[in-house]
Amino acid sequence: MQPTEQFNQGLLQYLSTSPTPFHAVANMQRELAAQGFSLLNEAESWSLQAGGKYMVTRNGSALIAFVMPSQEQALQQGLRLVGAHTDSPCLKVKPQPEMCRQGYFQLGVEVYGGVLLNPWFDRDLSLAGRVSYRTTTGQLKSCLLDLRKPVAVIPSLAIHLDREVNQNRSINPQRDIPPILWQQAKLNAQDWRAQLLTLVQQQDGDAERVLDYELSFYDTQAAALVGWNQEFIASARLDNLLSCYVGLQALLQAPAPGAILVCTDHEEVGSASCCGAEGPFLQDVLARMWPEQELRLRIIQGSLLISADNAHGIHPNYADKHDANHGPLLNQGPVIKINANQRYATNSETSAVLRRLAELEQVPVQAFVVRTDMACGSTIGPITATKLGVPTVDVGVPTFAMHSIRELAGSDDAWYLYRMLSRFMQECPRFI
Ligand SMILES: [Zn+2]
Repeated sequence: MQPTEQFNQGLLQYLSTSPTPFHAVANMQRELAAQGFSLLNEAESWSLQAGGKYMVTRNGSALIAFVMPSQEQALQQGLRLVGAHTDSPCLKVKPQPEMCRQGYFQLGVEVYGGVLLNPWFDRDLSLAGRVSYRTTTGQLKSCLLDLRKPVAVIPSLAIHLDREVNQNRSINPQRDIPPILWQQAKLNAQDWRAQLLTLVQQQDGDAERVLDYELSFYDTQAAALVGWNQEFIASARLDNLLSCYVGLQALLQAPAPGAILVCTDHEEVGSASCCGAEGPFLQDVLARMWPEQELRLRIIQGSLLISADNAHGIHPNYADKHDANHGPLLNQGPVIKINANQRYATNSETSAVLRRLAELEQVPVQAFVVRTDMACGSTIGPITATKLGVPTVDVGVPTFAMHSIRELAGSDDAWYLYRMLSRFMQECPRFI
């Protein structure tokens, strides 16, 4: 197998087994532990050794992994940070979700982030997330749940009952998207937590009462290579688990002192949370690596953050949505994202470093600016740069259908990004 194919197989596996940020982090944690990264507990004291490999998680949905450099290494070479986010737009089950109508049991859902709702209809949906419960002895515990099988569906309304649907369909998220789970003729249960309890008890026989949960629906169709020549990767959550996986593999392949992977949660809703990029997670970890402020600030100023999050490829059916000179193509390399209004944190010097990395690895890169008459998206790059003052460049692989239940990327681009990030994590080209 070619290295690209082998890499993509690992990526497909990661995408398919990470239906929620909790699972994405647990899977990263497992791989890091297998490569000798030890888990730090934020509630305990740390004694970090130069050359030591560490990881720390927050809320089970954000993760920072790093190889501790010596003070000298940190000052001379700076930190090489790669950032990505673990969350993706989805439908989350409400706290009191039970709906019994026409003999069907449905769950009320909240829309998390900017979900493209249309593609959620007529899919074989499953459910995953975290459940918190009490045991028979009164202890509080949480566990992860992933049902894996299709347990729900949001059927479309037949075209015969809405003749205008192909001209002007709009979706009311309160009315139109509660998924159907069962018919009450088959199962006359109305207490959602009681149903969950039987699932939790399969993992923990001492579980007695489900207290709360964060569960979201996902498409059971596995990530796959598609296209005539398998030139595309189709999957849910490419935004942004693709970048999490690429960053993880880059770190594992080259665990050099000063390399740091930062995967935060809640980007899709603005990053403001204890485990989001706007929260203090990264600052807290850096403060514990170098408690002395002046030293820490010197190290940060000699560092670089590559913020990796997917970009919009130019779609052949909608080419006018892009600036004519800035239409990234799938399989033509990672995209450097630039915005004069600082929706991206890239500047000419941080971008130059990225272009130099691409040269060194002989990998293509592209550039993106949004059409001048359209609003620009944003990501964790500018947020982290604002909080930390670290030089930052925003980059990401070009994709189609961002925030759909099934997105599309090029099958070469993740590999290209991986090559650049691996190089970067070993040694960052520096200005003199
Ligand atoms: Zn994203």
